[in-house]
Amino acid sequence: MAEPIKSILIVGGGTAGWMAAAAIQRSVGPNATVTLVESADIGIVGVGEATVPTIKDFNALIDLDEAEFMRETQATIKLGIEFNGWGKADSAYFHPFGTYGPGPTIGDFPQSYFTLREQGRAGSLEAYSICAHAARRGKAGARSGDARSPYSGLHTAYHFDAVLYGKYLRRVCEGRGVTRVEGEIVDVVLKPEDGFVDHVVLKDGRTLKADLFIDCTGFRGLLIEGALKAGYEDWSEWLPMNRALAVPCAKVGPVTPYTTSTARDAGWQWRIALQHRTGNGYVYCSDYIDDDAARETLLANLDGEALAEPRPLKFVTGRRKKLWDKNVVSLGLSSGFIEPLESTSIHLVQVGLIRLLQHWPDTEFSPVNIAGYNRRLGREIELIRDFVILHYHATDRDDTPFWRHVRDMPIPDSLAERVEMFRDRGLLFQVGADEYFSQGSWLAVMYGQGIVPAAHNPLYDYQNIERVADGFEQVKRTWGAAADALPSHEDFLKRGGMWA
Ligand code: FAD
Repeated sequence: MAEPIKSILIVGGGTAGWMAAAAIQRSVGPNATVTLVESADIGIVGVGEATVPTIKDFNALIDLDEAEFMRETQATIKLGIEFNGWGKADSAYFHPFGTYGPGPTIGDFPQSYFTLREQGRAGSLEAYSICAHAARRGKAGARSGDARSPYSGLHTAYHFDAVLYGKYLRRVCEGRGVTRVEGEIVDVVLKPEDGFVDHVVLKDGRTLKADLFIDCTGFRGLLIEGALKAGYEDWSEWLPMNRALAVPCAKVGPVTPYTTSTARDAGWQWRIALQHRTGNGYVYCSDYIDDDAARETLLANLDGEALAEPRPLKFVTGRRKKLWDKNVVSLGLSSGFIEPLESTSIHLVQVGLIRLLQHWPDTEFSPVNIAGYNRRLGREIELIRDFVILHYHATDRDDTPFWRHVRDMPIPDSLAERVEMFRDRGLLFQVGADEYFSQGSWLAVMYGQGIVPAAHNPLYDYQNIERVADGFEQVKRTWGAAADALPSHEDFLKRGGMWA
């Protein structure tokens, strides 16, 4: 007979493990025990400084105080990503959070924009985003929920120190009743009758049993792959990046409220400003550059003095074929990895958690429920994958073998269709409510990287173009004035009690 889940064992105490502990404990309350086991000897990946706005919903779900969270993690505000050298070697564009224009009042923004553009009257796309205006001015502010407010489009996320986030969540979780066990797992024992995980064995001989296991063991996927052999879908043919070097640097100048991604010969370099330091890293493909040359490239292009030796990381882009198998749910790196270009890993941890809470099992572990979770989350991950591939595919660069390769590589049909429709007449669409990236994001990257629609929807020629043009001018003025009125990023953090 089906019984409620009484015990949950989270295996791994990186960002994913502690996020899982916080969300699950909040949901099960005193009705089940939540235990987290981790090994300090193995350690965590601990990079992951940039997020997307959904992190705010997650922090609200687990009841974190925003100012405290920001002080504890040395967090700054993120309004979007500046991409340098992606479309062409000397080009740049900004992918802002939020929407372009005020939305409904000017109908389908891209169609009106391209209609005006054909008349030479549209100006830069950035001018229609309040996040871009604020980012360019080094400003930040609170998001208002009031759609009439000039700040309604100011969607923000954070940059933060992922190691500090983990430590902070650990303290919060332990205060709320999560039990932490220190120890290295050396064996995972399955039940002979059904192959479900029965218990894990620690190096010192202790055993830990549970009804439900959450595998947050990072790339190794100790339970989901090591024990259950869930399989891995490798996406390197579309996303060939497989190495990164990360280096913390001294703080330089006022903190910038956006991430910078600069294309390099065999990949790209990130720059992320936190309160206390600036993170820099080079994500690259080892087929096109060796580790020593990558290190030299990174060190030659640092913003601020290096505070440590560059830390090497290896990965294979893809996802676990079964994200949830039997009584094991994988989250974080154990479930797969899409390189950090659009900062989506922590977002996917939280999407996985929300879906898990929606599909929460009982001890029968309904296969229909598990298959539903796998299908749904798998699709959400694939949509993000397509968006990230777009950045490589939509390039005119041919100056290095790497850029020629990614420009010419075949892409998934699902992405090819979207690109063709946009190229044909600027048509953009979101695949259902579960797709994370909005029409605005697709527009930012496609247009930002040089795809210009050949035509627009002819119905837009019937509109009163002078009124549309006036509306567009007004949007630019409103966003510019609203951004002017915001405090500087650092002032905003300091005045709001968010500065550590
Ligand atoms: P890990 O941090 O690897 O944690 C694994 C845990 O499992 C550890 O606690 C370890 O002790 C434990 N463990 C493993 N084996 C055992 C064992 N045998 N016994 C006991 N415990 C064990 N994400 C973003 O959202 N934004 C970014 O900007 C971003 N940038 C990134 C840049 C790079 C180069 C990389 C590689 C990743 C980036 N990520 C980013 C992803 C992000 O780092 C991860 O999603 C996040 O850190 C979650 O990691 P994790 O908790 O799944 O794994």
